[in-house]
Amino acid sequence: MKYCSTRGQVRDLSFSDAVMMGLASDGGLLLPEQIPQLTQPQLESFSRLSYTDLAYEIISLYATDVPAADLRRLVNTSYASFNHPEITPVVKQDDVYILELFHGPTLAFKDVALQFLGNLFEYYLIRDNRNLNIIGATSGDTGSAAIAGVRGKKNINIFILFPFGRVSSVQEMQMTTVTDDNVFNVAIDGTFDDAQAIIKEIFNDQQFKQTHALGSINSINWVRVLAQIVYYFYAYFRVREQTACEQVQFSVPTGNFGDIFAGYIAGKMGLPTRRFILATNSNNILCRFVNEGDYSLADVHHSLSPSMDIQVASNFERYLYYLYEGDTAAVVTAMDRFKKTGKITFSAALQTKIQQDFVAASVDDQQTLEQISSFYHHTGYLLDPHTAVGVKAASKVGEDVPLVCLATAHPAKFPEAINKAIKDKRPPLEIIERLRGLPRRCERLAADASLIKEMVARNSSKS
Ligand SMILES: *Cc1c(COP(=O)(O)O)cnc(C)c1O
Repeated sequence: MKYCSTRGQVRDLSFSDAVMMGLASDGGLLLPEQIPQLTQPQLESFSRLSYTDLAYEIISLYATDVPAADLRRLVNTSYASFNHPEITPVVKQDDVYILELFHGPTLAFKDVALQFLGNLFEYYLIRDNRNLNIIGATSGDTGSAAIAGVRGKKNINIFILFPFGRVSSVQEMQMTTVTDDNVFNVAIDGTFDDAQAIIKEIFNDQQFKQTHALGSINSINWVRVLAQIVYYFYAYFRVREQTACEQVQFSVPTGNFGDIFAGYIAGKMGLPTRRFILATNSNNILCRFVNEGDYSLADVHHSLSPSMDIQVASNFERYLYYLYEGDTAAVVTAMDRFKKTGKITFSAALQTKIQQDFVAASVDDQQTLEQISSFYHHTGYLLDPHTAVGVKAASKVGEDVPLVCLATAHPAKFPEAINKAIKDKRPPLEIIERLRGLPRRCERLAADASLIKEMVARNSSKS
């Protein structure tokens, strides 16, 4: 399998080149040159596999330059860190199938991809005798999952900037209690945007970037999409065991368009699904895109589902590539226009196509709280605020087929929102309580790029 860029100037990359490149060098995003089509007998044989065996089969279609025994080991190691034997179990509550994606080390779905990506990075770096220093800014979930993905790994250091006092207490503990030598937590006196701006400034210093072998962790790496394709198939097979159905429908709470894009690729591979339900909070740029053909920037609102408080969806360009049927010049034109004007609009013909792939609804904080509360009182099951957005959106625009809602985080990760939604006292979660007594390591610095650079230079490993 070869990889190419959505902007047309990079092609013919091997899987390992695509993994290590991350963002394509022409500014685009990398995609496989073809999407493998599963045959009916293949689907049947996949339907009985365990999660890790299924992950191996699906990933091996794309990771064609990793020897089979190595890939098996990487997959097995990655999911051994999950605390549920099924990795991503499906539980039925009321009429809804909940796909629980939060059994990894940081209790959010990002672990599914970042545990695997961490192992894959280490594998390539050892093979090529190189080092990588990952730097990134986080408002919470991505940073903790990335740290958990690379802690203790050889040839990798990670530096994560977060805004001091502005991530949830659970998220802060999940980061700062990781005291491995290769993990550097940096609390910035400033906002998430300040942290993000510092990272951008550091990456723009080409000399510094080269000298310190810097890499990033954002959701543009193809491996993050790839690892997430697996659980769409897994969930479909589990639902089909319980109910005779031709098709299912997935509801996906969305921010960067990464998770739902993985589902879209699963559909292209032959997974029998209806249109995907794209669920946003009040940051609804993607919802406006589907419903009105209007992809235009607005201000970011802080919501009760903070991991979706995003306006520019970094994976969106991948979907544009398919929408424009591989016309890379059209992708370049659209992305240029977006950069200049903050807006892309779509013709009626393209809107029809978009609406064959997705239906969309946006859910505000009030509706999110009501959904958590009513679902809890009806079933005894607690939805986290992101998952609640997906469940609510499905009740607005879902079709009459079995419904799978992706549960992207454990409710214990967002106690502030949960306490607003329900009065009952919940027993504390052991995996979080255990963190409270642990030693922490974190450096607090002013929001100043030169200070951060000094700190990275002091601690990085040279390539
Ligand atoms: C990151 C995140 C999302 C959004 O996922 P995207 O791939 O960015 O669309 C949703 N829920 C939770 C809990 C997250 O951490």
